[in-house]
Amino acid sequence: MKKIGVLTSGGDAPGMNAVIRAVTRAGISKGMDVVGIRRGYNGLINGDIVELNVRSVSDIIQRGGTMLYTARCAEFRYEEGLQKAKQTCIENGIEGIVVIGGDGSFRGAADLSARGILCVGVPGTIDNDISMTEYTIGYDTAMNTAMEMVDKLRDTAQSHDRCSVVEVMGRNAGYIALNTGIACGATYIITKEEPYTMNDVINKIIAGQKTGKHHFIIVVAEGIGNSEQIAKEIEQATGVESRATILGHVQRGGSPTVRDRVEASQLGYYAVELLSNGIGNRVVGLQNNKVVDYDIQEALKMTKSFDHKLYEIANEISF
Ligand code: ADP
Repeated sequence: MKKIGVLTSGGDAPGMNAVIRAVTRAGISKGMDVVGIRRGYNGLINGDIVELNVRSVSDIIQRGGTMLYTARCAEFRYEEGLQKAKQTCIENGIEGIVVIGGDGSFRGAADLSARGILCVGVPGTIDNDISMTEYTIGYDTAMNTAMEMVDKLRDTAQSHDRCSVVEVMGRNAGYIALNTGIACGATYIITKEEPYTMNDVINKIIAGQKTGKHHFIIVVAEGIGNSEQIAKEIEQATGVESRATILGHVQRGGSPTVRDRVEASQLGYYAVELLSNGIGNRVVGLQNNKVVDYDIQEALKMTKSFDHKLYEIANEISF
């Protein structure tokens, strides 16, 4: 393979830049030309392509966001869009592409691979909701950001004897909620993966009050939503003044943690290695701390388990 491209697609995540750097440098070191495709699959449809050299990816390993921009691209879901993208690749001599994104982006990567442009996916999403891998780039940074924010909320909740209901990201997965909750000593963690009733939450708070607890942290996964209502019900039932905070997109930004930079570097490298061996339609990830790769279709069919034991532990030690 003489020339490869790299793009970021779907929601952004800290560490995407570190993948772009790894892909660019690994590609060049293996004798290939590397180009960046901007704004996800839109860049392939519009021909928005930039040459990348070893220096164009200097000084980005530590930056959040993505220097290639990211976007969603409805046109890419249709044959016409895919053919336009394929044509852009042919015109620019792009034989393979590293796609950094989530499941949706991988579906697009499979579609393009089936049309002769080999793609390899690198999991980049703060939600950690990709089944074939234990870890997705951006997850650790997002959890650390959420943890810092909850710690700050806790200071003020403690000063005022309040209950702080904090909604963290994770539309389809409660992993950020579970880990942030346990790391911040939340009284209750509410996620879709674990059945709960408002009575359970309220009873836990009342039990805490009986042992002298004056302030409370309730972590809610985005997929549950309803944080304002949850806060209202807690206040009505317990008499503890309760405030809801939705952390939102702050969790998507910031300088990536060590873990995100290391995984970004190694997964980016392995993705290029596959392409340089003429292998596409794969997605790379981590299992038992080892790099693995799967056929994209196979990867999309896999399911991921939730750590129910960790949830139980969090529940048992927070009262
Ligand atoms: P993520 O990659 O984070 O899951 P999305 O689900 O929004 O984000 O997908 C990102 C982009 O991937 C979409 O805007 C579209 O361009 C492409 N995509 C998603 N699903 C498909 C599909 N079924 N076929 C082709 N392309 C898709």
